[in-house]
Amino acid sequence: MGMMVTKKQSSVHLVWFKRDLRLSDHKPLLAAARTGLPVLPLYVVEPDYWAQPFASRRQWAFIQDCLRELRDHTARCGQPLCIRTGSVTDVLSKLAERYEILAIHAHQETGNSWTYARDKQVADWCRSRHIALCDYPFNGIVRGLSSRDKWSAVRARRMADDVLSPPTSLSPVKGLEPGQIPPKSDPLFGVALTGDVQKGGRQAATDLLRSFLTSRARTYQHGMSAPQSASKVCSRLSPHISFGTLSVREVEQAVAQRRAQLGPQEQMFKRSLSSFSSRLAWRCHFMQKLEDQPDLDRVCMHHGFEGLREPFHNSEFLQAWCQGQTGYPFVDACMRSLNQTGWLNFRMRAMLVSFAAYHLWLDWRQFGPHLARQFTDYEPGIHYSQLQMQSGVTGINTLRIYNPVKQSYDQDPEGKFIRKWVPELADISLQWLHEPWKINHHAASPLGKHYPFPLVINETAMKQARARMTEARNVDGFADTARQVYARLGSRNRPVRKHTKARDRQLSLFR
Ligand SMILES: Cc1cc2nc3c(=O)[nH]c(=O)nc-3n(C[C@H](O)[C@H](O)[C@H](O)COP(=O)(O)OP(=O)(O)OC[C@H]3O[C@@H](n4cnc5c(N)ncnc54)[C@H](O)[C@@H]3O)c2cc1C
Repeated sequence: MGMMVTKKQSSVHLVWFKRDLRLSDHKPLLAAARTGLPVLPLYVVEPDYWAQPFASRRQWAFIQDCLRELRDHTARCGQPLCIRTGSVTDVLSKLAERYEILAIHAHQETGNSWTYARDKQVADWCRSRHIALCDYPFNGIVRGLSSRDKWSAVRARRMADDVLSPPTSLSPVKGLEPGQIPPKSDPLFGVALTGDVQKGGRQAATDLLRSFLTSRARTYQHGMSAPQSASKVCSRLSPHISFGTLSVREVEQAVAQRRAQLGPQEQMFKRSLSSFSSRLAWRCHFMQKLEDQPDLDRVCMHHGFEGLREPFHNSEFLQAWCQGQTGYPFVDACMRSLNQTGWLNFRMRAMLVSFAAYHLWLDWRQFGPHLARQFTDYEPGIHYSQLQMQSGVTGINTLRIYNPVKQSYDQDPEGKFIRKWVPELADISLQWLHEPWKINHHAASPLGKHYPFPLVINETAMKQARARMTEARNVDGFADTARQVYARLGSRNRPVRKHTKARDRQLSLFR
């Protein structure tokens, strides 16, 4: 008896959606649609990805909103988004049994080590089956960049290119079962969610962009540093940009248009929009680092810092920091707010890292996964570059140790943020709120009863960290390696010298 051969139903162009969950400004989708042949839009839920320490149910909840909307939008074009669960190569193999896949179209992903390895597997799978893998540049990231000197010009050109319209129709794939979108509560996505999740989807993204550009951005520059005002005046677009409900180019061009509409009396608004645009450029700049050195989620940019903190690991410190129980009210308020809402402004993210890396002398690879899981906007390129920079292990950035007590007085002078997130201290007078360990009559102090004593003494910990960092830098060959890191990954913008101390000045040249 001969072997049963299943007849393939039709030839398709497959579009693999990853962190680009939109129809507009989507070159892979447009390229597939323009062939006029059936288009199979695919999203793969990868269980192994969701079992990794950086992934969380919070991120899935956001993505799930995006997928539901994307399915509606693709359905209106003629072919609903297809969802499959499994490893990508298994899913593709199954689809290839029924359909002749003429090509796979996808954006290039600048991901962590896990997605990098997966992308290589998919590329091998395509090669072994002689299926064309057409990949398209993503945002301002340049694959195979020959020199950092050329990067910003390429990015500028990309940002100025026309935003692509969504396809008007997608030729349907016969007999394709669209598949279930797993619910937000599916145990596949890790531990049950406590706290809020920002709403996903294109509609939510464009609503945020509109409210930011029409009014919220006016005081962006002044309000972005304090966590309470930042949550309103910052764009809050980060998870949308990270999962691609908006492209960076769409945002950049909308900002430029808005800027052009503002009159001369709106200088503050204009400055805020410029400051916002430079952050979009930082985004691409940091992601380009991971693109150029894909193991940045595992190794220090400057190898001279390997082994510096690892032998001193203190798991009790780590746990207290993750739970917002360090005894520093402002640090704890920031962490608890992040744990509950999935978002924190830039300065406070940097302070949390600084506290973990310097005060508690923890290695960024130990505490990074907690932050990654909490951030709805987890974006590997920004995440690991920032973790390394704020921990002082790049060798090319100015050492920046945040003083958590100073930050507390500066960014929460009335103590409202602390009282909201650290209710144990709600009844303490403002005089003691920022430094409750200074309360001298024991009966009135909540320390050791409802709220912990500080894990470390601020000034001593900062001094020790600074001395250890100086020692690590005063090693033969340090500057040579720093120069190499700069050549490979450093920003070509002029260094910011303001407030830079003399001994750091030389290093700030290597940003
Ligand atoms: C340790 C650490 C880890 C971080 N991890 C992430 C991450 O995983 N994902 C992420 O999107 N951002 C990360 N950031 C950067 C920044 O804190 C967030 O992008 C920002 O707080 C998001 O809020 P927003 O969209 O309202 O920002 P806005 O101030 O409105 O900025 C607009 C956009 O610019 C980009 N951006 C802003 N600040 C930075 C920055 N410093 N570096 C690079 N891009 C920036 C983001 O895409 C952001 O959405 C991290 C910062 C630190 C210090």
